[in-house]
Amino acid sequence: MLTEENVPQQTGPDELLITQIRIAAMPGEPEPPAGPAWILLAGPRIQAVGPMNEPVPPPSGRRETLDGDGMLALPGLINGHCHAAMTLFRGLADDLALHVWLMHHIFPAEARHVTPEMVRLCTRLAAAEMLLAGMTTVADSYFFEDEAAHAFAETGMRAVAAQGVIDFPAPGVPDPAENVAVAAAFMARWQDHPIVRPAVFAHSPYTCSPATLMRAKTAAREADALFFLHLAEAGDEAARLIDPAGSSPLRHVHALGLLDPQTVCVHCIWLDDEDLDLLAASGAGVVICPHSHAKLASGMAPLPGMLRRDIPVALGTDGTASNNCLDLFREMDLGAKMQKGHLQDPTSAPARDMLTMTTSLGAQVLGYGNELGRLTPGALADIVLLDTNRPRLTPFYGSELLVYAGSGADVDTVLVNGRVVVRRRRLMTIDLPATLEEVRRLAQRLPHPAASGSP
Ligand SMILES: [Zn+2]
Repeated sequence: MLTEENVPQQTGPDELLITQIRIAAMPGEPEPPAGPAWILLAGPRIQAVGPMNEPVPPPSGRRETLDGDGMLALPGLINGHCHAAMTLFRGLADDLALHVWLMHHIFPAEARHVTPEMVRLCTRLAAAEMLLAGMTTVADSYFFEDEAAHAFAETGMRAVAAQGVIDFPAPGVPDPAENVAVAAAFMARWQDHPIVRPAVFAHSPYTCSPATLMRAKTAAREADALFFLHLAEAGDEAARLIDPAGSSPLRHVHALGLLDPQTVCVHCIWLDDEDLDLLAASGAGVVICPHSHAKLASGMAPLPGMLRRDIPVALGTDGTASNNCLDLFREMDLGAKMQKGHLQDPTSAPARDMLTMTTSLGAQVLGYGNELGRLTPGALADIVLLDTNRPRLTPFYGSELLVYAGSGADVDTVLVNGRVVVRRRRLMTIDLPATLEEVRRLAQRLPHPAASGSP
């Protein structure tokens, strides 16, 4: 029997049998067993799924059992965009316009306070927050991304880790001429890691020249890696483009040849129909970040137009400086309601779309195809057990309720790659009290009255 004392470390057992669960019906997926069920894992993958009244295949190696206690099993949630280490800047500069926030607060704070130690530690804090909220995969983009990748590997959280590229001196990259070379070297170091996939993150077409964007995309192509960039986040971005090759941010990056199925455009708020058609034809993915868009008043991403064109869309939290909370349940809720309110159409963004964007469709955006975001044989075993025995989740007619009433706080147990990383809401891979204390110590160096203990 698997207990808190003997949960598998580093890797899962040969086989892990999760019993007495209910499997969440997810939109577009095969109907799961209706009653109590089991899931059998073999190493990092799901081997079989069945109802409790049907026999489990006999063991072919060391098998452990995890009692699901009647909880709801759903695919681990996929966070399509984050800057994990920015937990240090949570609440530091709120209620400001995007450009003022970024140029006068965030970039200066990053220049002074982002160090390898800070990235390792603050990414660990973010991983703790995300795992406890049922996120099993994150696409992270930052500087000193080696340290972030180590933090994800240590904590057992699956990550697409993207090294930042920007055309001015950045943490760890004092000479911007080296930015793409640094990213290429980073990707070479992290090839073939079991849970961390390296990638490139070009900050935006208003902080990277066309030449930098194209060189960064070429480096990603050579490494068979994803290429992320912030795109069309602000209404005035077209006027800020460096050497525009098109009349909109999207047409600019399209003209530069940056769009293909291994490109992920983050935000994509200011797109017109022509932009959407170009995006759909390119196969590139999109990530929208509802709380970040709402808090920075960036605008409303044309989500229905994207989904109607079969553009793959994921949901992201963005970093905690612009959110300020890493909980995809909140993003699903706001993501649906923002669209409904804006379009004055309650059918415009149904809950089921939010569920697919954080699971199967999110997996597609991050290049995992059918391997992630579903509880079917052959898929990677990233699983959340959620406690629905709560007032706000009773009665429980279907998974859509999670979008409007669920919370990361309902998550009880989390597995990534077949390994138990959260059990009974306790982190198995992270010393949380020590991490909190270390981040508080770092925060004392920041120029914020609250950070220095002043009232
Ligand atoms: Zn971002």
